[in-house]
Amino acid sequence: MPDPSSSGRQGLALIVSAPSGAGKSTLIGRLRAEFPGVGYSISCTTRAPRGTERDGVDYHFIDAALFKERIAQGYFAEWAEVHGNYYGTPRQQVLDLLAKGRDVLFDIDVQGAKQLRANLNLGCTVFILPPTREELTRRLTGRGTDTPEVIAKRLSNASREIAQAPWFQYLVVNDDLDAAYDELRAVYLAARCAPELRPGLVEGLLRGWEEA
Ligand code: ADP
Ligand code: 5GP
Repeated sequence: MPDPSSSGRQGLALIVSAPSGAGKSTLIGRLRAEFPGVGYSISCTTRAPRGTERDGVDYHFIDAALFKERIAQGYFAEWAEVHGNYYGTPRQQVLDLLAKGRDVLFDIDVQGAKQLRANLNLGCTVFILPPTREELTRRLTGRGTDTPEVIAKRLSNASREIAQAPWFQYLVVNDDLDAAYDELRAVYLAARCAPELRPGLVEGLLRGWEEA
């Protein structure tokens, strides 16, 4: 289908959160493949690259000293400490894309989603839930990218994160991947129709309406 992320609109900030291992990267990857015009907010992080991750593509990998310097400079639209590492969203990169009418996906944690809404007053928020704790454990283990200690930390944080899910505008349970993707896609397409992303649309249509 035609990519709806085109000009003549305000860009949509689609903010997606989930406990680690729920399948957020997988679902976001599908959305980006189907809608290549959608931008992606590349976060800065102090954690080490994992698997096939590339600097400047998946994250900007920086050290803690530089991260703290950037906090002090107001470089981040939001930042948080997650699972023992710092993560932050570069403010200008995001604002530039949105101003050009590009939709932007954010893969950030619950604290970040709340800060982003508060600081920039924008965004459609979606929380991805795993079907069960057992399945979340299986996925984290099966991914094969984290040590048992890292997995244990992520699992122990999961219940606290899931408890905050009702704050989000939309919930998607990622049990069957295709069904979960259909829901995320539907949320994205519906959120694109928000009146605040179509400034001037109605006025333009009505201009000269009576004379015609
Ligand atoms: P997150 O980005 O939320 O940490 P990932 O997208 O990396 O999670 O998914 C964690 C693991 O679970 C990956 O190995 C992925 O292939 C697998 N996975 C994702 N969604 C499903 C699903 N619906 N059913 C089974 N496995 C899944
Ligand atoms: P991971 O280490 O698995 O890539 O990410 C760990 C967690 O950090 C995930 O919940 C992810 O959404 C979150 N995260 C990634 N980037 C950011 C960011 O810029 N800000 C915040 N607040 N969280 C982030």
